[in-house]
Amino acid sequence: MSLQNGSMPTRVLVTGGSGMIGKAIEHVVSEEGGKLEGEEWVFLSSKDANLVSPEETRAVFEKHRPTHVIHLAAKVGGLFLHMQENLQFLRDNLRINDNVLHTAHEMGVRKVVSCLSSCIFPDKTTYPIDETMVHNGPPHDSNFGYSYAKRTIDVQNRAYSQQYGHCYTSVVPTNVFGPHDNFNIEKAHVMSALIHKTYKAKEEGTPVTVCGTGNPRRLFTYSLDLGRLILWVLREYVELEPIILSVGEEDEVSLRDVQDMISEAMDFKGEILFDTSKSDGQLKKTITNAKLKRYRPDFTFTPLKEAIKMTCDWFVENYDTART
Ligand code: NAP
Ligand code: GDP
Repeated sequence: MSLQNGSMPTRVLVTGGSGMIGKAIEHVVSEEGGKLEGEEWVFLSSKDANLVSPEETRAVFEKHRPTHVIHLAAKVGGLFLHMQENLQFLRDNLRINDNVLHTAHEMGVRKVVSCLSSCIFPDKTTYPIDETMVHNGPPHDSNFGYSYAKRTIDVQNRAYSQQYGHCYTSVVPTNVFGPHDNFNIEKAHVMSALIHKTYKAKEEGTPVTVCGTGNPRRLFTYSLDLGRLILWVLREYVELEPIILSVGEEDEVSLRDVQDMISEAMDFKGEILFDTSKSDGQLKKTITNAKLKRYRPDFTFTPLKEAIKMTCDWFVENYDTART
């Protein structure tokens, strides 16, 4: 669907455009024909504006005058960073989200698509988890700061809809990975941390140490698939309610399996150790993607092994410039 409204130019502003998911959307827009005639796309990084600041947020919106916003910018990190910095995750993300949503409102942005995450769902819950359960109970203790800030996006979207009739909505990815991810071992999510650890272990002839037991289970979605789906949400999805964008529960894997797939992709034949003194975090957060399947029965996800192989290859080829 075209985003065009009469003769008004269409300008899509992507906050967090320099991150992994932003880069995936940029690829879909520029390399896969995702950009339609008459559209202009702007991908922001924190160098263009620190969105924690209301003044810088206002200035960057005034500069680009977007009609649509894909809001990805956030303080992001893996389990171990969350456990150290819950307060900063809460405060930075509350501020970024309020600045982006309210500036979008003040400047007449027609649609905003913001990114939640499956780790914000209640910790004690029934499975599979669906979109109606975002606010049903406290999130897991390890990342409560990030979770409450993300949940507030949904609350705020409802308020803009109630008071102003705005179409500001949100998507819920599960664990995402792909090119341009953050591969810094201390700060990264599990997939990129294990890829980097395996690369180093192969170079140095040492074992790979997986944190925790390797038993937790996760749903991994390839960033390019997510980019394609976010574009569809921007163009076609008109509900205020969040929508889970993820592979289905049948694709859930243990972290032990993930390490095996990484070892195979990188041809690593050394020892795998499990450091059980480190936290396992949430044991699972199994969601259902039934709503997505109802809308998009045609959509096929890249098989996990294939996506891991492409990500490992990308990391090896781009080691010197990757975020490590
Ligand atoms: P990422 O690679 O770490 O990228 C984060 C982006 O946010 C970067 O473009 C970064 O800019 C920008 N940013 C951070 N702080 C900012 C600030 N104060 N002002 C302006 N921009 C700022 O993260 P990602 O994995 O692409 O995640 C994108 C979104 O998806 C986030 O909202 C995240 O919560 C959500 N999500 C991610 C996952 C996952 O597994 N990765 C899963 C579910 C949901 P710089 O490049 O300049 O630092
Ligand atoms: P989560 O999926 O939101 O919990 O966040 P992560 O992507 O950080 O994954 C955390 C899970 O991966 C926990 O079960 C960790 O014990 C496990 N894990 C194993 N090795 C690592 C590692 O090197 N880094 C991270 N972040 N997690 C790891």
